[in-house]
Amino acid sequence: MRYEAVIGLEVHVQLRTLSKAFSRSRCSFAEEPNTATDPVTLGLPGALPVINKEAIRQTVRAGMIFNCAIAEVCKWDRKNYFYPDNPKNYQITQQEKPICIGGFVEIELPGSARNIQGPHRMVRLNRIHLEEDVGKLTHRGNHSSIDFNRAGIPLAEIVSEPDLHSAEEASAYLNSIRMHLAYAGISDCDMEKGQMRCDVNVSLRPEGGKELGTRVEYKNLNSMSGARNAIAHEIARQSRILEEGKTIARETRRWNAQKNDSEGMRTKENLQDYCYFPDPDLMPVRLDATFLDGLRGELPERPFDRQRRFMDQYGLPFTITSVLCPVRELGDFFEAALAVHYNPKAIANLIANDLLREMSSDDRKLPLGPADLAALVREVDEGKLSKQGAQDLLVRMVRTGENFAKAAAPLLEEVRLSELDVGQLCREAIASSPKAAAEFRSGKTTAINAIKGAAMRAAGGKANPAELDRVLRDLLGTSP
Ligand code: ADP
Ligand code: MG
Repeated sequence: MRYEAVIGLEVHVQLRTLSKAFSRSRCSFAEEPNTATDPVTLGLPGALPVINKEAIRQTVRAGMIFNCAIAEVCKWDRKNYFYPDNPKNYQITQQEKPICIGGFVEIELPGSARNIQGPHRMVRLNRIHLEEDVGKLTHRGNHSSIDFNRAGIPLAEIVSEPDLHSAEEASAYLNSIRMHLAYAGISDCDMEKGQMRCDVNVSLRPEGGKELGTRVEYKNLNSMSGARNAIAHEIARQSRILEEGKTIARETRRWNAQKNDSEGMRTKENLQDYCYFPDPDLMPVRLDATFLDGLRGELPERPFDRQRRFMDQYGLPFTITSVLCPVRELGDFFEAALAVHYNPKAIANLIANDLLREMSSDDRKLPLGPADLAALVREVDEGKLSKQGAQDLLVRMVRTGENFAKAAAPLLEEVRLSELDVGQLCREAIASSPKAAAEFRSGKTTAINAIKGAAMRAAGGKANPAELDRVLRDLLGTSP
């Protein structure tokens, strides 16, 4: 029998807030263990939690970017369990009334050819709720240490419907979540820093079936490759079991990245085991319309929407838009440069090819302003600089930190001194290509390319093509 894999993901992302979800302790990474804590974080007797408005705000924004309905009222529940990563013995979460309900995430389906526009699909969400992160346990030999710096950091948990059907689709989904959240400044989603982790649920069912099969869950996968490998492995494992005529046990398994294998952990606890109940320390929160309208109003255009718009409005190819659009700052930079000088293709190319090549992947800030980049393209369009000259200048500006005026001054001077006599060049080119000139004059406009080529060769490749074009058309008597 053929089986179809069914996958649902629970993605946890740390929200970008200064302080923790329910206390004023700061959120910090890579600090001395147990220094970013306070009585609430440590669960000391009598300490009371207070909700961080910024955490709510960012969760609502996540809901808006993923098309969720936002609850009018949300509230907090205690998820009770005993484990040393949490000194209170319960985690504050939202079981019954989450902030965001439903929604969907647009994903780009993996295609064989990466440079063609692949089909997109919507993956339905079940909910997004706000909860607190727990402490980090490190096991060494026969003892364990605990760092509570992470405890209490606000986490949004994004729960998908079981809409994914392969490890590749699950990766595309995770990439999309990360792109949207980083784009909107909701979370940095850096998996290496543990800012994004996911639980994956995998089941199989006969192809074409409607009912869901028994699922197996893997908790806390903290890398893209981990998630992908665990899913691929689990699909293969369940297929083998089903083909042997056996049944799948409902369980939680652990992924061992070193061994590239999984091991059984425990049979799944159910809801009752956590004894969820409303947290008596926290009031329900009403999300009023003014607050929500304000957030909706300042929500950025979604990256895939922006990509479609860039292709339509500016006629840019898919490959370039898929470089410019996933990172908000780049798309903004592109449009800011356009506002200074309107040449979408040249500006997009200069950013996507030249500028990004000069930057290192962990550069967070763009090394020059949009007006400086636009000035380069303007000089080329006005015939004062060759394309190569503009690219060289860009490299110089990035490396020295000089702005356009400073970097270009000596170069423009030089260009002026060695200015070619374009008129003379063009007259000679026309004289040496009588056939093309006649063709052009009789209406075959593409014949100009041959003459332009001759002029450019005579100029040793140093002439500006736009200027040649203009002068040639003038001389040929049909300037458009
Ligand atoms: P729990 O909170 O107990 O893990 P949920 O019902 O909230 O369970 O579901 C968690 C995730 O598991 C969701 O993303 C959901 O889509 C997914 N899921 C539920 N049932 C299945 C199934 N049979 N196969 C695959 N994924 C499933
Ligand atoms: Mg779960």
